[in-house]
Amino acid sequence: MKITVLGSGTSSGVPVLGKNSGVNLSLDPKDKRLRSSIYMEGDPPLLIDTGPDFRMQMLAQGINNITHVLLTHSHYDHVGGLDDLRPLCFKNPEGISCYSDEHTHREIIDRFQYFYDTKDYFGKPKLNFLYLPLDKSGNFSEFHIGTNRIQPVKLMHIESRSFYSVGYVFNGKFAYLTDFRWVDPAYIGFVQDLEILMVGAPLPDPHPNHLSIYEAIELIQKLNAQKGYITHLADAKFHQELADEFPENIIPAFDGLMINF
Ligand SMILES: [Zn+2]
Repeated sequence: MKITVLGSGTSSGVPVLGKNSGVNLSLDPKDKRLRSSIYMEGDPPLLIDTGPDFRMQMLAQGINNITHVLLTHSHYDHVGGLDDLRPLCFKNPEGISCYSDEHTHREIIDRFQYFYDTKDYFGKPKLNFLYLPLDKSGNFSEFHIGTNRIQPVKLMHIESRSFYSVGYVFNGKFAYLTDFRWVDPAYIGFVQDLEILMVGAPLPDPHPNHLSIYEAIELIQKLNAQKGYITHLADAKFHQELADEFPENIIPAFDGLMINF
């Protein structure tokens, strides 16, 4: 498997608009953090999330086509670039498949009503929204996209609103879990003992809706991943600072990072 980190930044991206200090002024390209997203080569290749930087991320990495997208949740920094899939709909007249849970889809309907116009018109995006499959108890079940075996994982993001994000485990080897405080206990078994675990954690300090960077490190260790990556980073620490203080098998993600395994 080969994964490219298209963006490793938190909701504001880094540099943060209006902030002129510290990491925001860094000249290290690893401190430029676009909104979080990854691309996985495979049959077919998969994209996780289309944030507001999606277009520039595709251009930066020279990725010319996408046919399947998995969405984690409806926050703008994860879906704000959905409309930029439109030019790719011309390449894929059968449409682009977008997978999400039902709640995320409902929020997308509210925000992008023109996607659902019953009348066809030139330039209308052809995005086929598909629900993640559920078993008889209402839990996410495993499904396939081509040769990719995918297990969705329920993640508690904003507890006061019972708002969940969805993580994904690929081929029983790699999990991408972002925007959450804790993994729903029903899914813990799917994220244990993996080869690679990528976890979103913006800040060193505790946050009501996210793991802190140190809680994320603890989680990676507790779940016994061989290798961990921390993504969705804010502007609190330089890449090099994080790299120096992290345990040997845990790495701060950065834009353009490629992982082969
Ligand atoms: Zn979020």
